[in-house]
Order: sequence, then C-alpha cells, then structure tokens
Amino acid sequence: MQKCIICESFLNKSIANLGNLPPSNLYLRSVFDGWVSHPLQVGICSCCGLVQLVEPMSLEIIEPKVNWIKYEEPEDHLDTLAHRLIELLNLSPNSRIAGLTYKDETLLERFKVKGCKDYVSIDPRSDLGISKTCFGLETVQEKINPAQMDFVARNRGKFDVVIGRHILEHARDPNVFVEGCKALLKPNGFLILEVPDNEKVLAHGDHCFVWEEHCSYFTPLTLRRFALRHNFEVLDLQIYPQSFEDLLVVILQNADKHKYCKLGLESTAIDQFVAFSNAFDRNKKRLQTKLRNLIAQDKKLIMVGSGHLAIKFINMHDLQSYFSYIIDDNQLKHRRILPKSNLEIKPSVALLSETNAILFLSLSPASQKSFLQKHKEQIDGLEIYSIFNIPHGI
Ligand SMILES: [Zn+2]
Repeated sequence: MQKCIICESFLNKSIANLGNLPPSNLYLRSVFDGWVSHPLQVGICSCCGLVQLVEPMSLEIIEPKVNWIKYEEPEDHLDTLAHRLIELLNLSPNSRIAGLTYKDETLLERFKVKGCKDYVSIDPRSDLGISKTCFGLETVQEKINPAQMDFVARNRGKFDVVIGRHILEHARDPNVFVEGCKALLKPNGFLILEVPDNEKVLAHGDHCFVWEEHCSYFTPLTLRRFALRHNFEVLDLQIYPQSFEDLLVVILQNADKHKYCKLGLESTAIDQFVAFSNAFDRNKKRLQTKLRNLIAQDKKLIMVGSGHLAIKFINMHDLQSYFSYIIDDNQLKHRRILPKSNLEIKPSVALLSETNAILFLSLSPASQKSFLQKHKEQIDGLEIYSIFNIPHGI
C-alpha cells in the first residue's frame, strides 16, 4: 500500500485510476514524434486526509521540452491580499520580503506601491543554481529545501516574510519544501502560501483538474493540518472565491514552541473522495455517450484551449476520436500535435468556416470571458459547452 507524502500513513484503498497518460506540457511537431505515458492515479491519506498523486511521473518526464510554457494564476484578489498582509503583519519599509518564484512578482510589486520596497524575487540561476534552459516548477520545487535555502540566506540574509504562490502543490516532498521556506525566515517570520482549494473539484467530480504537476490537492482542513505539523501558527486562512477552484491563502508564523492542536479528520472527507474516485468510470461513459450522440447528429466538436485541463479531459476520458481539432490563440502552439489524442492546435480564425460546430470551453474564467468577447462574431450561432461540472454560468 502507498504511504502519504506528508504523514507517512497508508492511503485509503480507494484509488482513482485516471489512465495511462502522457504529460500535458508536450506539444509535438509531428504525429511521429515519440512520447511516454505514466499511470495517473490519485488517492487520499486515511490519517491526515490529504488528497495526493500516487507514484507521480518522474521529473524527467514532466520537465518542459520548450521554454515558452507559463502558467498564469488568478490575480483579482492580490490588491486585497497585499492590503491584508501589510495591516495584519504590520509591515513597514524596513520589512524584508522574498518571493519564491516568478508567480510572486505581481504581489511583490504591490508591496512596493505601499512603501515596502525591500523585497527580492529568488533567482532560479544565482540563488537556486539551475542552469537548464527549459525548466518549470518541477525543477524549482526540488531546490526549495533546507540546504539550498541556507545557501540563499547566507547570501541574502533572512526575511521577515516569504511568499510562495502556487508552488506548494507542486512539491514532491511538501515537508522538505516547507522546512526549506523556514530556513529563509527570521525567528517569528511569516510564511504566506497560496494553493488551489480543491473542495469544489472533489465535490463536483471534475477529474480533469488532476494532473502530473500537482502532487497535493489541499482543502482548508488539510492545509491547516499541514501547517500545524510544521510548528507554524496559523494566523489567518482565507478562501478567495473563483469560478472554478477557489484560492486558499494561509498566513503562517514561525512559532518557537510546538502548539499541539488536534484536528479530527471528518469521515465526510474520506467519503467525498471515495465518491469522487467511484464517479470517474461513470463520468467517462456518460461523456463518451454524449459526444457520440452529437457526432451522430453531424456536429463537429472543437475544443477551445490547449492547456492541461483540456488535454487531461480528452485523454483521461478517451474522447480523442470525437474532436476534430483544438483552438488556441497562442501562436507558439499552432500546428503542434497533442500526444495520445493526435489532435492539431489551430488559431481561432479556423472557426470562420465552421457552421455546424460545437465548442467545448476549457479556459480559465478570465480567458473564457476574453475569448467570448473577442470572437463574438465568429462564434455567433455555434453551440457552446463547458468541460467542467463546477457550475459557472456556461
Ligand atoms: Zn497523511
């Protein structure tokens, strides 16, 4: 039986097997290019309740093969968050602040506007010693460990505040990762972590949110439990609502003494995961039947967006034979082929010649809004569905 990546207890025997799948960051130049696949499985710890990947793909497989893939995170809440941090932590122009990755830069800039100018963004090359041309968070997360962060602290000094937005969930070993963050903090310093809240994903059975790059799928309970395990005091835990996954932000203080706090795992968390796991085969059959019926009505099915959600949705449900192609306005992706599905990525101008098409939207809320506005005339008269079960207005 597999053990939990945080508490080493056994995982519950109900494991969701989502298929033998290639990584979602592979954009091939030809259908003859080679690729490898790996079983995508997710389980839940019987003790701490963390939903997590079972035997994740190797770092070698998920390392990006191109240097133009970037993940954009929601930012609507950042003004509110910056204000909250300055007030709650009593930050001043003398406060030293560090951001762990490029994803933290937009929050750091907001501190500057408020007069807190003593901030740094940890540099992947000079601070973390990464020399590769193509790398992503899979490489960065491995460097956030006590030894490497001690090195950074010796060069840059320690910090009052360390920020890590959307990286903890990528950590192969979350315990090592968070102890690495601690090595950068002054005594009583503050660690700010932001992760997706997976409550809605689990409740609505949106399996396509599971992918090889996220090892952990936190909820408010499991994130709080994880922080307490590492001797942090949880000063604040906020949920910032979003259309799909909400955002969880915790403000943690490096505590001197261990404050034992027992948080009981509600059996509903295990029940919810078992239902999520059991729903996969049912959802897959339902989707295949639905799409087969649409094809029988002479409809042409087109996926909008070629990010990991679309790729996982098609591949894990075996829907490749029903889709004609994928639309994405990122020029770097045009004419590229997706592994397993062999679907080609085309610019949205391709929609001009479509009259009997159905669009399946896989975009983030912000991209979806801008796509619908920008292509209003092209998509006028076409049927539009969302690939997500979470209700959000499409
Ligand atoms: Zn556990």
